[in-house]
Amino acid sequence: MTTTQSRIEPLTEVDQFVNGEHFLLIDGKKAEANSGKRLDVFDPATGRILTHVPDGDAVDVDRAVQAARRAFEGPWRRLTASERGRIIWRLADLIEQNLEEFAQLDAIDNGKPLTIARMVDVPLTVDVFRYMAGYTTKLEGSTYNLNLPGDWHSFSRKEPIGVIGAIIPWNFPLFMVSVKLAPALAAGNTVVLKPAEQTPLSALRFGELLEEAGFPPGVVNIVTGSGEIAGAALVAHPDVDKITFTGSTSVGKQIARAVATDLKKVSLEMGGKSANLVFADADLDVAIQGAAQAIFFNHGQACVAGARLFVESSVFDEVVSGISAIATGMTLGPALDPSSEMGPLVSKEQQQRVLGYLEAGSHDGARVAGAGAAPDNGGYYVAPTVLVDVRNEMSVQREEIFGPVLTAVPFTDVDDAIAQANDTSYGLAAGCFTTNLSTAHKVSNALQAGNIYVNCWGVTDPSAPFGGYKQSGWGREFGREVLEYYTETKAVHMKL
Ligand code: NAP
Ligand code: MG
Repeated sequence: MTTTQSRIEPLTEVDQFVNGEHFLLIDGKKAEANSGKRLDVFDPATGRILTHVPDGDAVDVDRAVQAARRAFEGPWRRLTASERGRIIWRLADLIEQNLEEFAQLDAIDNGKPLTIARMVDVPLTVDVFRYMAGYTTKLEGSTYNLNLPGDWHSFSRKEPIGVIGAIIPWNFPLFMVSVKLAPALAAGNTVVLKPAEQTPLSALRFGELLEEAGFPPGVVNIVTGSGEIAGAALVAHPDVDKITFTGSTSVGKQIARAVATDLKKVSLEMGGKSANLVFADADLDVAIQGAAQAIFFNHGQACVAGARLFVESSVFDEVVSGISAIATGMTLGPALDPSSEMGPLVSKEQQQRVLGYLEAGSHDGARVAGAGAAPDNGGYYVAPTVLVDVRNEMSVQREEIFGPVLTAVPFTDVDDAIAQANDTSYGLAAGCFTTNLSTAHKVSNALQAGNIYVNCWGVTDPSAPFGGYKQSGWGREFGREVLEYYTETKAVHMKL
């Protein structure tokens, strides 16, 4: 482990934006929070306050929902599908033109290495908007042959749902905006977005591009604030037609309970504790690199993180020592330092949570097979860590840690591997490393998860559906499939 001090200087516009005043975006205009209160935004690399954003409440949410409703009934509705698509495409162009600025904002705000934000977060965001822009003109219904006497014309229409409340987490701040907004807007809905309080900056900068892209005021509204107040107000608002949420399973369950009151539609993308199976026939170099990347990418703060590693007994020691060596050798440092392979975690709270799991694991008898060392300079760092001697009832094995902590457990054969992998309440992702085609297929079919990776990990593309089995989610993101979750289907029957 090495720590370094040299870091690139942020762009002037990034500096100015971060240090400038921040506002809610309601009906196309900057707005102060009703309460006048503000939330602190912290720099995860130092623990110091970076800036402040408005602390929106139910009054702000209500104003935003009303604006979204007016835009839905009015100008957004009147555009042709092709015009709507062009606006979404232009938004993608604007994000791309400001790629470096967005990458720096997410790096500074979230703590992720700038190289990751440049290569992953921002380009994927652009791709998602472009991919969904193409669907505006491709939403179509069907015709039906009714089994009734007489002449009938029966058909279906795909219609937008209305006002969508989008609530997102902090781990991919800008990308999460695109995951929710691109399909919602492509389908003709309007949106009120509540970014995570830890990482609101890129969403607010994104808001500044909407007018130039051509969005009528009110199509997208942004209310920063806490989940307990602004988020809960959005979920409870009677004029919100659907909530789309990405975040923890516990908050997802609260939202599911809350929407029972008025049965608004809901999509939930939640946590995971994904199993990665390494078979003895795998290319072990590829498997070791892949398993390390599966857990350490984005500091383990990825919903699909390959957090539970299962290795065939005969190669267990070799694979674990390979991954441990990678963990030990990783360079931790601030996001804007080009040599940082891993930055700080997003918040003090998250750092304490992950350290708490490490303590619990050690108390329960888990042993550290390898760990890096975290800089001790006030930043929210946690060393990448590999744990062995793990039993399935331990909290480190059962609960989502959402940090750079891998547990490794041996298995005897394919059936044992599958049984151990599926012994979890989560079902977001899972995968295996093997060179045996039959094993690859058998395991892919048997794993209870919405996303399966074979000889790779974390592949995310707007063309392929993404979502969870079990307690990892309701609904799907991406692909044609996501549009089912942002449209209503209306069947029309005409007696001729
Ligand atoms: P979180 O605490 O559940 O928060 C997610 C969002 O919900 C934030 O904007 C949060 O606001 C808001 N929120 C909190 N309480 C709320 C309430 N009572 N009503 C309405 N909204 C509320 O999750 P997080 O800590 O930000 O993110 C980490 C979690 O997200 C992990 O469990 C991870 O697996 C999951 N995740 C899943 C996916 C996926 O696609 N499946 C992707 C990324 C992350 P504030 O935080 O601002 O208070
Ligand atoms: Mg939170």
